Amino acid sequence: SRIDLALALAEEPGVILCSYGDLLRVPGSRRRSLLQARADGCDVRMVYSCIETIEIAGRHPDKQVVFFAIGFETTTPPTAVLMQRIAAGGIKNLSVVCNHVLTPAAIQHILNAPVLREMEAVRLDGFIGPGHVSAIIGSRPYEYFAEEFAVPVVISGFEPADLLLSILSLVRQTNRRQARVENRLSRVVTDDGNIAAQRLVASVFELRKSFDWRGLGPIPYSALRLKSDFREYDAEHRFHVSLPPARENPACRCGEILRGVAEPEDCLLFARGCTPENPMGSCMVSSEGACAAHFRYRPPSSSAMRRVGG
Ligand code: SF4
Repeated sequence: SRIDLALALAEEPGVILCSYGDLLRVPGSRRRSLLQARADGCDVRMVYSCIETIEIAGRHPDKQVVFFAIGFETTTPPTAVLMQRIAAGGIKNLSVVCNHVLTPAAIQHILNAPVLREMEAVRLDGFIGPGHVSAIIGSRPYEYFAEEFAVPVVISGFEPADLLLSILSLVRQTNRRQARVENRLSRVVTDDGNIAAQRLVASVFELRKSFDWRGLGPIPYSALRLKSDFREYDAEHRFHVSLPPARENPACRCGEILRGVAEPEDCLLFARGCTPENPMGSCMVSSEGACAAHFRYRPPSSSAMRRVGG
C-alpha cells in the first residue's frame, strides 16, 4: 500500500518524512503506522502546510526531506505550488511522493461496481458532493453521475446547517424521483470551479493509469503523478524502494461500506479491534470516515455498544 511506501521511505537512512496529521495514524498493511515508525526512531514530522517542508529542507541540508503528498482535489494545488518552488529554487534535498486522487473517478468506480449493477438499481440514494473538492473542480463533473446513474448529487458545505439543507434537498429529490445536481454551496462553488487552480495542477501533474485504493482496489485514471519535468524531485524515482505485496485485512469491509452495501456494524472488527484510536481500515481513520463517524455518533442501543459492554 502507499502507507507501506511511506514507512519504507521513513526508514531510509537520513530521510525526514513529512505529511499531514491524518496520515500519520493510518496503519500500513502490516498494521504499522508512521506514528509507530516515529516512536521507533524514524524522523517523521507532521506539517500543516506542505510549504513548511521547504523550511525543513533548508534547516537540514545534510538530510533528504520527503513530503508524502496525499488527498483529494483540495490539497493538490498547494502541492503544485510546492513543486514549482522546489524546481525554481533547485532544492536538491526535497522531494515529493504524489498520492493525489480524483473524486469523480472514485464515484464512477463505486457506481460501476458489479455488486451494485447486479441490484439493477443503484442502492445508493444520492451523493453529497464535498464542498471543498467542488470548490476546485466545480459542479459540472457531477452531472454525468446524475444523468448516467440517475442519482441526485447535492454539493454541500460542512457547517451543520449546510449539511441539513443538503440532506433535505436529497430527500426532496428522492421523493420526487428526480436526479440532478444541486449546488447548495453557491457562495463558494461555481459550475466550472477554480480555473486558476485547475491550470496550476495541470502544469505539474498528469494522470496515473491506475492507482490502488484501500478497500476498492485498483481504479484506472483515478490519481495523479508528477510530470516528467519534475522527475528529479519525485521521491518514487529518487529512492528505489521495493515493497512486498500489500496485505489488506480480509475482515475489513470498507469497500462494501463505501459502496453502500454494508454498514459499519456489519464489520466484525467494528468497536472491537477497530476504533478511532486504533484504526484497521481507511473508514475509521479520519473523523469524517463512515466507520469513525458511526463509532462516535451511534445510538447507545447499537449492537456494537452491547458488544463492548459485554
Ligand atoms: S470497522 Fe474498521 S475494519 Fe471494519 S470496515 Fe470499518 S474501518 Fe474497516
